[in-house]
Amino acid sequence: MSGRENDRRYVLIIGAGPAGLFAACELARHGVAPRIVERRMAPHHQARATAIQPAGLELLARAGVLAPFLESSIHVRRTRFYAPGFVPLAISSFNGIDCPHEHQCSLPQWRTEEILTGHLSSFGVSVERGTTVLSIDEDADTLDVRLRGPDGEIEIASFGYVLGAGGAHDVTRHSMLESLQGDTYAGQYIVADIGIKLHHEPEESMVFVSDEGFVLLAPLPGNRWLSFVDLDPYSPVIDQRETPELAQVSALLNRRTGVNAGVSDLAWAAHFVMHKRITRRLSDGRRFLMGDAAHLSSPIAGEGLNSALMDAADIAWKLALVIRGAGLQTLLDAYAIERHLADQHVLEVSDMLHRRALTLAQNRVGAAAPPSDPAQVVALARARAMLDVSYVGSPLVGEHAGLEAAPPIPISGPVPGTRFRDRIRLTGTSHHLLLFGANSLPDFFRRRWHHLVAIENGAVLDAARYGMLRGGALLVRPDGFIGYRLAQADDASITALDAHLASYLAPDRT
Ligand SMILES: Cc1cc2nc3c(=O)[nH]c(=O)nc-3n(C[C@H](O)[C@H](O)[C@H](O)COP(=O)(O)OP(=O)(O)OC[C@H]3O[C@@H](n4cnc5c(N)ncnc54)[C@H](O)[C@@H]3O)c2cc1C
Repeated sequence: MSGRENDRRYVLIIGAGPAGLFAACELARHGVAPRIVERRMAPHHQARATAIQPAGLELLARAGVLAPFLESSIHVRRTRFYAPGFVPLAISSFNGIDCPHEHQCSLPQWRTEEILTGHLSSFGVSVERGTTVLSIDEDADTLDVRLRGPDGEIEIASFGYVLGAGGAHDVTRHSMLESLQGDTYAGQYIVADIGIKLHHEPEESMVFVSDEGFVLLAPLPGNRWLSFVDLDPYSPVIDQRETPELAQVSALLNRRTGVNAGVSDLAWAAHFVMHKRITRRLSDGRRFLMGDAAHLSSPIAGEGLNSALMDAADIAWKLALVIRGAGLQTLLDAYAIERHLADQHVLEVSDMLHRRALTLAQNRVGAAAPPSDPAQVVALARARAMLDVSYVGSPLVGEHAGLEAAPPIPISGPVPGTRFRDRIRLTGTSHHLLLFGANSLPDFFRRRWHHLVAIENGAVLDAARYGMLRGGALLVRPDGFIGYRLAQADDASITALDAHLASYLAPDRT
C-alpha cells in the first residue's frame, strides 16, 4: 500500500455533476478518498438528463446505490411513436435485452445528483461547494492547481491526479490543450420540464413526428414531463441564453402533437443545440477527462449522462488500484484506450438514433417501421440500453485457447472485452476468476493473486450462456467486463493468464 488512498490531497475531482460525483463515490468504494470541488454554491434544480439506461442501472447496482434510483423514478419500458393526432406509427421496447432491468429510470438530473451526493457522504466525503478551479500546471511529479474558494481566497495545491469532470467547458481539458472535435447538428431545440394533459400509457415515453418536426415526451415523477422539441425550420437563430416562454413551448407542442397538449406549469426550459464531439486524448497519464468534458452526444439518445457514469466507474477502479500500489501505469494508460473505444461507439449509436428521429420526422411511417429481423430489433434495443459497449481490442483483454499441442478448442459465448452478463451478481472490488468444470488452480497462481483475484466456482452460473460447457475459466474485471477467457484451466492457460494479469497488476511477491 502506498498510504495515499486516505490522502484527500492526492486525487482532485473537478465538478460535482454526474461524472464527478460518481467518480468520487466509486473511488471511495474502491478505498480511495478524493477531494471534490464544485463551483456552484448550491445544487441546481434542472431536469436536464433524465434517462438512466439499463447499462447505467447495472453500474449503479454494482456501486450499491441502485435502490434510491428505482424508488425515485418512473420506469420507462417502451417508447410509442405517433403522427399528429395520436396516429400510431411504431413502438420500441427493451424486451429481451438480457438485463435484469428491461427499462430506463426516468428522473430529473438534480435528483440523480442529490442521490449520488448522499451516497458519497456515506463514505465520509463531501463536495466542497463554491470552489472553482482556475488553472492546472504540470510539474515533474505533481499537478499544481489554483483554486478560488467561496470567500474568494486563492489556494494553490498539488495533486498526483486530476479527474476533469467540469462539463463542456472543462478547465482540465483546456490545461491539456485538448478540444472537443466533431460536429454540431443542424437545428435548434427547446428542452422543458412541464405539466401536460395528454392521454398516455403508464411506463411509456412518446414521440410525435410530422413533416414540421418532432417532440419527445418523457414522463418524470410527480406528474411532470421532460419535452424535447425542435424549433420550426424557418425560425431565426436564437441566442441560447434566452429562456423559452410557456406560450412558445405550448404552441410548439400543440402543433407537433396535433391536439391541445394542455401544457402548464413550466418549471425549467432552455434553448440548446446538439453536438457529436470527442477529444483526441482522454488522458495524459495524470489528468483524466470524463463525461461532457470528454465527449458530447445528441440528447435525443439520452446517453450522455450514462457514458459519464461509465467513464467515472472505469477510471475509479483503475486509479484506486494504482494508488493502492497494486496496479501498474499500463492500467492507467488503458483508461484512454478503453473509454475512447466505448465513447466513440456511444457517439455512433447516438448519431444513428438522432438521425433516425429526424428521418422519422421527415418520412413518418416508412422510417418508423421497426427492423423486420427480430435479432435486429433486439440489437437495436441493446444499443439503446448501452449494453453493447465493449472493450474488444483493448490491451487489458485477451484469451488462451488451451494446450499448445492439442488442436485449438473452439470457444463460443461472449468474447473478452464484452460485458459479463451476470455482472451484478459479482459484488466487491476485486477481479473474479470463474472456474467451470472440474478445474483446480496451481498454488503459484493462488499465492501471486490472492489479494486481487477472488476465485469462484462457475457452477452457480449457466455454463452454456458463456460457452463453457466443456470447462474453462473466465476472468471478470472489477468493472464487470470479461478480461480474459481460458478454453481450459490447464497449466499453459493459467501461465498465460498470470502473464496477462502481470501486464497491469502487481503480484504478491512475498
Ligand atoms: C437538454 C439535455 C438533455 C439531456 N438528456 C439526457 C438524458 O436523458 N440521458 C443522458 O444520459 N444524458 C442526457 N443529456 C446529457 C447530460 O446532461 C450530460 O451528458 C451530463 O450532465 C454530463 O455530466 P457531467 O458531470 O460530465 O457534466 P455536468 O453535468 O455539466 O457537470 C459539470 C459540473 O462541473 C462544474 N464545474 C465546471 N467547471 C468547474 C471548475 N473550473 N471548478 C469547479 N467546478 C466546475 C459545473 O458547475 C457542473 O456542476 C442531456 C443534455 C441536455 C443538454
